[in-house]
Amino acid sequence: MFLTKCAACAADCTTVKACSRCQTVYCSVQCQKTHWESGHDKLCKMIKKKGGAEQLYADKQYKASIKLAVEKCAKDARSQALLNAAKQLGDLSFCDMEERKRFLELSAEDAEIEEDEVTCYICLDSIHSETKEGVVRGCGCKGSQGHAHVTCLAKQAQLSVEEGETMNADDMSARWSKWTRCGICEQNYRSLVSCALGWACWRTYVQRPMEAPAKRAALTTLGSGLMDGDRAGEALTVFQAQLKHAYKEQDEESITAAKGNCAMCLSNLGRDAEAVVINRELYAQIRKASGLEDIDTLVAALTLAKSLRALSSFSEARALLREVVPVAMTSLGGDHGVTLELNSNFVRAMCMDLNATADQLKAAVDLAHSTHEAALRRYGDGHELTHLCRASLADARVVAQNAGLER
Ligand SMILES: [Zn+2]
Ligand SMILES: [Zn+2]
Ligand SMILES: [Zn+2]
Ligand SMILES: [Zn+2]
Repeated sequence: MFLTKCAACAADCTTVKACSRCQTVYCSVQCQKTHWESGHDKLCKMIKKKGGAEQLYADKQYKASIKLAVEKCAKDARSQALLNAAKQLGDLSFCDMEERKRFLELSAEDAEIEEDEVTCYICLDSIHSETKEGVVRGCGCKGSQGHAHVTCLAKQAQLSVEEGETMNADDMSARWSKWTRCGICEQNYRSLVSCALGWACWRTYVQRPMEAPAKRAALTTLGSGLMDGDRAGEALTVFQAQLKHAYKEQDEESITAAKGNCAMCLSNLGRDAEAVVINRELYAQIRKASGLEDIDTLVAALTLAKSLRALSSFSEARALLREVVPVAMTSLGGDHGVTLELNSNFVRAMCMDLNATADQLKAAVDLAHSTHEAALRRYGDGHELTHLCRASLADARVVAQNAGLER
């Protein structure tokens, strides 16, 4: 499914030919023949025995992604230790540069020793006894909590889902969440840890048929993991595969979800024009099904507005938000996160209107003020949403100033 390069010539192949025994992928019959004669005849049975080419590919990606996650986590821990040491250095400001450097080096060595002592909360080892991998942490856990081996986290999730499947449990979504969320701090895994668990999940269920719910859930886990790991191109391939299957099954809900995910990947890849096309379609569809006041519709409007802005289609964004903002204000409330984001996008889109009248600009500044105040009240000064509202307020004031409306 994700093997898209010819095993013989490495060309991207859209019309795929696969070895009927092991599923190795080729761009042409000729390449398959050459590959067979140059050694695949000897490897084919072994690949089949190990679960086929897709399984081997997933296994390989899994191992590589663990390595990256472990390296990144070790590096983060080291920089944190260095930062702490540098903070202490504040008191040693009378030291000369040489002394400071030596002190930082010693602190870094200490940090490395400490790092070796960090152990996995599941198997209690520092280095995994079989895989020899180090521990990671990619959630909200602090202090000495939450370090684990990706292999141990994956095993835990796998066993929990397996147990649920055998006893037909009704808490399957909670069991599935073990693939994506830390059981201690209950926050989602981030970045490369999320990516490694995505591959772990996929390789666990890759052998199941496409109709199996577990396989489809695993696709979603892999796709989100790849997004978290900054691999939007591969994530797009995953979500496109999901979309193709959803079409085949005529499963409307899955089609909508997969389309949304594809659009997210496209935006991430800077393919804004394609993202806008999908987001327009989704917004119209959700609005038709649920009505304008529904939160799903308003979230879809927000997504569309953001992608319109990325494409610099400000007038379409303005027209959309002029209609949506008042509805969000009444149905969600002025301090709801979605409303705040819609408002700041509206303010920004208004600021980009070269033909705006003085009254319109004044209205934009007023909205920016009230939105910023609502964010401050609800989320406090340090929150990301408050920053967003403050930034659009600053923009609005500059524009108003230039137009001679504000001093
Ligand atoms: Zn080829
Ligand atoms: Zn083969
Ligand atoms: Zn472990
Ligand atoms: Zn945690």
